[in-house]
Amino acid sequence: MARKFFIGGNWKCNGTLEEVKKIVSMLNEAEIPSENVVEVFVSPPFVFLPLVESLLRPDFQVAAQNCWVRKGGAFTGEISAEMLVNLGIPCVILGHSERRSLLNESDEFVGDKVAYALSVGLKVIACIGETLQQRESGSTMAVVAAQTKAIAEKVSNWANVVLAYEPVWAIGTGKVATPGQAQEVHLELRKWLHDSVGAEVAATTRIIYGGSVNGANCRELAAQPDIDGFLVGGASLKVACLLSLMKRHHSFSLAFLFQIFWPLAV
Ligand code: PEP
Repeated sequence: MARKFFIGGNWKCNGTLEEVKKIVSMLNEAEIPSENVVEVFVSPPFVFLPLVESLLRPDFQVAAQNCWVRKGGAFTGEISAEMLVNLGIPCVILGHSERRSLLNESDEFVGDKVAYALSVGLKVIACIGETLQQRESGSTMAVVAAQTKAIAEKVSNWANVVLAYEPVWAIGTGKVATPGQAQEVHLELRKWLHDSVGAEVAATTRIIYGGSVNGANCRELAAQPDIDGFLVGGASLKVACLLSLMKRHHSFSLAFLFQIFWPLAV
């Protein structure tokens, strides 16, 4: 079974109310292919989630950028997975490298978060990826396998998991993994899933790439057999990249691109 392309924009900690409304209205006007061809999500900051969910067209999904590791309670400043469900938010990004590095989220903690979010019915985009030092020391596969293992140990049903391979050295740096480098890791991850989880999970789980995707590289990246989509962060993406994707899928419109490229759209 073909894996449906999955592409999302992570707005990170950006935007004002006015900017969010503007970008949502651009999204709503865009002509895009059907959900049968590509799944699209946008991930605004927490405070804008209800607004975006209420205004955004139903064929786009809304994802939170994080949630708490277990049921809510006395955890000041946190947002529980149940709250996301209560708001009708279907999806959450977990384990982003900015949270792993800046907030010291461990592999185990991310695994727990993924399991808990899935248990309440959320779809999870689980981020993994190595640092430059880890790549240069030859431990890329060991690192991403350990990160994936920490998830696999807690998760039995992978139907609602999308893995996002995001090499830390490529995020927001303009240094992109070559299509060959990205494909190599995606393929190894698929083999790891095959050997450690099962053939069905390996064949069906989307593994998307994130890290300085741009107009010059996205087409070639998207053509790799084990790259099933993109997680797009900041200003590194340009309209040309989505245009390339548009060609790949035959019917992406120019307007569609602007919503993904948050910083360029406002
Ligand atoms: C990200 O933060 O997930 C990301 C991929 O960022 P960028 O596209 O800016 O490298």
